[in-house]
Order: sequence, then C-alpha cells, then structure tokens
Amino acid sequence: HALGHGGNRFRFVAPEMNERVARMFALEAELRRALVHNEFVLHYQPRAALADGGLAGAEALVRWDHPTRGLVPPGDFIPLAESSGLIVPLGAWVIREVCRQQKAWRDAGLPMVPVSINLSPRQFREDGLAEHIEVALEEYDVPPAMLVFEISESMVKDNLDAAVARLNELKGIGVRLSLDDFGTGHSSLARLRMLPMDQLKIDQSFVRQLGSEQADEAICRSIIDVGHNLNMQIVGEGVETLLQREWLRAHHCDEIQGCFHARAMPADEFAQLLAADRPRSNTMLPLWKAINYK
Ligand code: C2E
Ligand code: MG
Ligand code: MG
Ligand code: MG
Repeated sequence: HALGHGGNRFRFVAPEMNERVARMFALEAELRRALVHNEFVLHYQPRAALADGGLAGAEALVRWDHPTRGLVPPGDFIPLAESSGLIVPLGAWVIREVCRQQKAWRDAGLPMVPVSINLSPRQFREDGLAEHIEVALEEYDVPPAMLVFEISESMVKDNLDAAVARLNELKGIGVRLSLDDFGTGHSSLARLRMLPMDQLKIDQSFVRQLGSEQADEAICRSIIDVGHNLNMQIVGEGVETLLQREWLRAHHCDEIQGCFHARAMPADEFAQLLAADRPRSNTMLPLWKAINYK
C-alpha cells in the first residue's frame, strides 16, 4: 500500500538508505559550490628535525571553512570528494595554493621550507598531474625541491608498474616523494625498494604505543632500519608525548610531526614560526641527506 500513495518507491524499500543517498547528493552539491566560492583553506603542520629541533618543513592539510558549520576536517569530505571525482579540481587547487603561499612567504622575506601535499588515489592516477605541478611551480617561481608529495601504500598496491612510472615522472620534475601512513598497508620490502621515495612516514598507530608495546617498537625499529638502508628519510607521525619523541630520537628517526611539537595551524601562524625558528640552512639538499642521524 505504500506504493499506492503515489509517493517514493525508495521510501518503501529502505527509508534510511534513501536518506543517506539524499544527504550524499546534498553534500556533493555543497562541495561543488564550496569550490566555486573558495571555501577551502590550508593549515600547515610543522615537521621538526630530531637532531636539533629545527623546523624541517610542513604538511599542508585542507579544511573546509563552511559558512555555517565552521571548520570541517578533511575526514568529513575527502572520501566523498574522492568518490565523486571532485578531488581532482580540489587537489589541483591545493597544489596551486601551496605554491602561491610559498611565494608569498618568500616575498615576505621568510626562509623557504619544503611543504608536503597529500595526493588522493584518483588524483595520483589522473593524467596531467605532473604537468599541473610544473605549471604551478613555474607560475609562482617555486623550486621543485620545495614540494613533497605524499602518497599512501594502498595507491601502489594494484598496479605497481603504473605507480612506479607515475612516481618517476614526478621525480623527473624535481619534487620529493613521501610514503604516508607507512606500515598499515601491504608493502613488501621488495615492493618498497621499487619505489623512488625520499621519505617514509611511520603511521601514528605504531607511534602511539612506543614505550608500552614491544611489538610496535619492533615495527618502528624495522621501518627506520629498512628506510635508512634504502636511503629514505624517516618521519614519526602523530607524536603526542615526550616519551614518544625521545624513543624516536634514540632510535635515529630523522623527524617528527605531531601535537607534541605543534598542531596544524593557519598560514599566518606558520609564518611566525618561519620568522622565529630559524629553519635548517641545508633544506635544499635531498631531505634525508640534510640530517646527520648517526
Ligand atoms: P595524514 O596525511 O596522515 O595527516 C596527518 C593527520 O594527523 C592530520 O589530520 C593531522 O592533523 C593529524 N595529526 C597531527 N598530529 C597529530 C597527533 O599528534 N595525534 C593525532 N592523533 N593526530 C595528529 P587531518 O588534518 O584531519 O587530516 C586527515 C587526513 O586527511 C590526512 O592524513 C590526509 O590523508 C587527508 N588530507 C588532508 N589534507 C588533504 C589534501 O589536501 N588532499 C588529500 N587528498 N587528502 C588530504
Ligand atoms: Mg599526509
Ligand atoms: Mg599520515
Ligand atoms: Mg593518516
């Protein structure tokens, strides 16, 4: 009889599903509008060198400055941006915005540090990624070594050859490469050595248990050891405590990122750090060579 009302068939089948789909379409439309109205902002989270505590770089993290909901974290919209394809124009904006910001900081007389940008799976596969990056670098006159692109292990899982080709294409324009959330995926060591990464970021799930969980300590030790043997620089992610930082330092990790050192912050706050905390003078070297970790 529900159909007899001449109403919504979906409602008869699964009301809660209907609602979810409707919410998804509404959010997708809002994301499109947000792109047009420039509602996205980047925050910057510093990375610190463990050798001397110096400012080693930053990671650009996108937020949606929503007119009524406030600052929306990426976890709430990146998945839908990815599945709808909106991540491609959004990701392109992030790349240009980081280049624009790098130039603005330099024009203000501030030193430059490498800024990391997260690539989504779809964006990583998209034709023209390297060209887009090159155009942005040229437009804002940013040295390619001042950008680091982060990918996750899952992005090289299915088609290794294509992924390696894409990574080499990016290396070819002079930007650096980082493997994010490392340890959570299925990378074998054989696979890892195929990847031309400059940096490995130890996933925060392993960092969290440092000092209390021997298995996680063993994993962190192995990642640092393997990474260094493959000439990669190692970053500990999600460092929240002194104990975690000291464990990583004692085990020759190169850099840390996390609330213990600093949270992600608006660009103007990061500029104050750039002005105050004299960054390492040798950031133009390949990242891992800039650190004397022995
Ligand atoms: P991620 O790339 O692994 O970034 C690190 C996340 O950990 C950030 O969350 C950061 O704010 C958070 N974090 C930093 N320090 C700590 C800490 O001490 N403890 C804990 N528990 N967390 C910490 P955020 O900003 O919410 O970003 C979440 C994820 O969204 C990122 O993970 C990244 O995968 C994605 N994302 C962010 N910006 C972009 C972007 O521009 N493009 C794409 N495709 N993805 C992005
Ligand atoms: Mg990241
Ligand atoms: Mg990460
Ligand atoms: Mg993560």
